[in-house]
Amino acid sequence: MAGAALRLPDQRGYVSDRDLEQLHGAKAWRHPLNIAVVGAHPDDPETGCGGTIAKLASDGHNVTIVYLTRGEAGIKGGDPCTTARLRTAEAIRGAEILGCRAVFANQIDGNTRVDGEHVECFTRLLHSLKPDLVFSHWPHDSHCDHRNAAELTRRAWEALGHSFTLAYYEVMAGIQTYDFEPNVYVDVSGTEGRKRAAIYAHACQRPDRFYPFHVDMEKERGEEAGVARAEAFHVVRQSGLAQVIPFPAREGGCQAST
Ligand SMILES: [Zn+2]
Repeated sequence: MAGAALRLPDQRGYVSDRDLEQLHGAKAWRHPLNIAVVGAHPDDPETGCGGTIAKLASDGHNVTIVYLTRGEAGIKGGDPCTTARLRTAEAIRGAEILGCRAVFANQIDGNTRVDGEHVECFTRLLHSLKPDLVFSHWPHDSHCDHRNAAELTRRAWEALGHSFTLAYYEVMAGIQTYDFEPNVYVDVSGTEGRKRAAIYAHACQRPDRFYPFHVDMEKERGEEAGVARAEAFHVVRQSGLAQVIPFPAREGGCQAST
C-alpha cells in the first residue's frame, strides 16, 4: 500500500499509513480488501471511477464490478438480446483491463426496479461479495437506472447494518449526475491509460462521444485536489465498518474538501 492515504473520521484530512499505525498501534485495515463497484450499465463504473479501480486493483485489493443491467437498450434500434451479449463481452473485457472481475445483477436496462424483491436479491448479491467498501452512483441523476442503482446500494447498505463503507461516484457531471458533493479525491494521473483502454473496450457505445467529457471532469477535479487528474467521491460518513478509508492517493495525500 505504498503511497496510500487515509482519511480520518475527525476530518483532519489525510494521513500516511505510518501515522495511522502509530495512532492505532497496528494496521487499521485488512489487506486485501473486498471492494464492489456498482454501475447501472456497462461503462458507468469505468467512466466514473475507472482510474481508482485500477489503482485499488494494482494495490492487490479484490475488486468486483456489479453491473445492474447488461445495457440491453444501449444500441438504438438494436435487438436487446444481441446488444446484451455484445455489451456483456465488452464489460468483461473492460473489467479485465482494470484488473477486476465483472458480475451481473440481471435487471433490464431502462426498466430497473427497486421493490422488495429486487432489493432482497441485490442485497444478497452484494452480501455474497463480503464487501468492505462499495462504490455506487450518486443518488441525484437524470437517468432512472443510475438513481435505482444508488437506491439499491443504499438499501443493501441499510439491510446489511452499514457493514461496508459506502462511497458515491459521478458520471457525466451536470448532464447525468447533478448536485454532486465530493469529500474525497483520488489522484488518477497514473492510471489514466488503463481507464481509457477500459472505456474504449465498450466500442459499441462509441466512446469518442463521452470519453473527452470525462477527461475534462478529471482535470477539473484534479484542479480542486491539486493534482493533474482526479476522480471525486462522496464517502458517507456514517459508514459503520471503516473508520478510515483506504483510498490510494499521491504521496502526501490529496486534499479533501469538507
Ligand atoms: Zn449509465
